[in-house]
Order: sequence, then C-alpha cells, then structure tokens
Amino acid sequence: MESKYLRINELGWNEQKLRQAKVLVVGAGALGNEVLKNLALLGVGNIWVVDMDIIESHNLTRAVLFREADVGQYKADVAARRVREINPDLQIHPVVKTVQEAFGLLFYHHIDLVFGCVDNVQARLDINRYCYQTQTLYIDAGIRLLDGDVKVFGPPYQVCFDCLVTQQMRDEAWQRFSCLKLRTRRSAATIPTAPTVSSIMAGFQVQIGVKYLHQASIPLNRRITVLGNIDEMHLTQMSANPNCPTHSLYEPVNFEQVTLLPYESRELSAKNLLHLIWQMFNSKAVVQLDYDLITHYTCPEHNYRLPLLRRRGYVFADEVECPFCKQQGLPNSFLLMQENFTNQLTGTETDELLNSSLLQLGLPPCHVVTAAAMHNNRLQYRFFGFEKDLSCYFGKTATN
Ligand SMILES: [Zn+2]
Ligand SMILES: [Zn+2]
Repeated sequence: MESKYLRINELGWNEQKLRQAKVLVVGAGALGNEVLKNLALLGVGNIWVVDMDIIESHNLTRAVLFREADVGQYKADVAARRVREINPDLQIHPVVKTVQEAFGLLFYHHIDLVFGCVDNVQARLDINRYCYQTQTLYIDAGIRLLDGDVKVFGPPYQVCFDCLVTQQMRDEAWQRFSCLKLRTRRSAATIPTAPTVSSIMAGFQVQIGVKYLHQASIPLNRRITVLGNIDEMHLTQMSANPNCPTHSLYEPVNFEQVTLLPYESRELSAKNLLHLIWQMFNSKAVVQLDYDLITHYTCPEHNYRLPLLRRRGYVFADEVECPFCKQQGLPNSFLLMQENFTNQLTGTETDELLNSSLLQLGLPPCHVVTAAAMHNNRLQYRFFGFEKDLSCYFGKTATN
C-alpha cells in the first residue's frame, strides 16, 4: 500500500522528521483549531495542546474541530479527540490548565517549537519568556476582524515579543483582571474574527514551523501582516528594544548546569525541596520563584487574615472577601483587601506553605527552579529540575 504521506514526501518534507517532532499549541480557539488541523494532516507526531476554556455555541462558526454536541466540553479535550480521528498515527496530549501552570522551562527545552494561538498579551509575554530562556522557536499569531499577523521569534532571540510591547499594551494586559489583578468569572469581551483569516494565519504558522523542522529558511524576526479588507500582505522586520524587560531581566538557561532531582514536582513539598537544596548546594540557600506567589489577603478594616496560596493572576474576585465586610453589606468588598505575596521560599514561611506541594504553590511541572545563596560575599546560583516530571510528559512520544 502506498504511504498516505506520499504527497507530503513529494514536497521534500520528511515523514520521519514530522513524526518525531514535538510541538506545543497554546490555545484551542479559532487559530488553535486550524493549527491542529494542519498538524494532524501533516502527521506531526507529538502535540501538546493547552487551553482551559469550555466550548460555547459561538465558537462553532470559527472552529473546524468542534461540533454542536461538543458545547460545554473542554476545548483542549475535544480538539485532541478530533485530531486523533484525522490522524491516529500521532500522539496528542490535551492539558486543561493555563499555559503558565502547565509547562515549565524543562518542557520548553525538550520540544521543537511553540505555536502561539492566544488572544491576550499576558499569555504571549509568558510564552515568550520561556521560549527565550530555552531558545525555543515561537511562532505567534493574532487575528482581528479580517486582519491577522504572524510573528516569528527564535534563537538567538535578537528580538522577542516583549521588545514590541508598549506601556499601554502592558497596562491593558491586566484589563481582564480587576485593579487587584483578580480574575472575574465572566469572560473578557472578544473582538469578532472570521474563520477565513484564522485559517490563513494558522496556515502560515504551521508552514513556517514545518520548514523550521527541516532546517529550511524561515522569516525569523519578521512579521507577516495580512490586511483582509484590502487584500494586502506585508512582510516587515521587527526591531529589538534596548529597554525590553525580558531581555534585561532574564538570561537563557544553560541546561548543562541544571541538576536533575529524581522527583516529581507535584510530590515534593516546598520544605522537602529546600532540604534537598540545603544538602546539595548551600545550607542557607533560598529558592527564587519566577512568579508572584500570593500567601494571604488581609482586610485592614477588620484585621481579618484570609490565607490563600495561589499564583498571582489566578485568584477570582469572589474568593477574596472579608466576612465582616460582607456582613455590613459593603459592595465589592474585595477591593478593600490587601494582597500579600512572595517571590521566594526561605524555610521561614508558614507550615501551610512549607507543607504544600510545588504544584499547589503554582509551580508548573517540568520547571527549573533557581536557588541562590551568599558564598564568600558573592551571590551564587544553582538550578534544579525535576527528572520524573520529564518522564510524565515525554514517556509516551511517537519516535518512529
Ligand atoms: Zn526582548
Ligand atoms: Zn473587612
């Protein structure tokens, strides 16, 4: 029987290479659906798709993989099921979480490339940072009405997504949240988009990704803009920003210097992690977190303390209420609450925090944590990863 990939091989693309590829698709909305459809047709072997949203009926006019009967189910789960129907040869792993909570730096280090199919600046900034720190190719797309663009960032990362972000965009990035950066349960207002433009942009994303897998030339540091109303397309160079926060605050991780601990991060408590690091590195070391960890809220009016361990940005407004304010019938009483957070684990935290698993503390699986300690009046760093997370994520991959 002739190979079903005959036509793809005739394009000069290599079936084996595609089968061995490992890609992350962030978002299973209009763009993500189209990207996944293309990956399935081409036989891209190992796909992770992350999305925490549920299918709503208005998604059906824009998402090729969803059907009427899927309304109410998780986008990532349904998309994965349809991809397997299109191509049973490949492995697809749906993850119902936010991308920030789902994948750490070790994960990014072990995959070939990331397709950004999200609709907000904050997710793009976070994907961008881990791609930059692991020097992983990041092909981002955005759509708006009949327009769309694709931006290609990759090693050596002369330009990153953050280089392009203006202060106004940064402020608006938190608009989905209230002023305390709390989540609201209603979804953000969305801009209408056409399925036609998502199909065009996702086509570019996957085609560029497949060319990259074959070491062919790609439009690195460039942006493809499609103006659907006037049927025009532009290719422009993106330029580096000398004040880019990502470029100034972070460095690529040297994975040869990461010590792999024989644990899964979800089974390790903060306390046990600290003990391991104190033994292996320095008895006064602290763990630096690369995100804000909320520890508790306080109501200054009533001296009320509400313990709540959560990554910042993942707390809903209705979880942060002072019962005394509520009794008095104060509207939006969460606005009075003061947020307390930390960026490090020192061993002096509350028992509740120290006994929580790293997963409960918002650390994504397959991450690398940084430990810091003073040694001879100099700050020294050591990096630790979790070896068993890797086998959880990469145990079942298609390689032949
Ligand atoms: Zn940058
Ligand atoms: Zn109160």
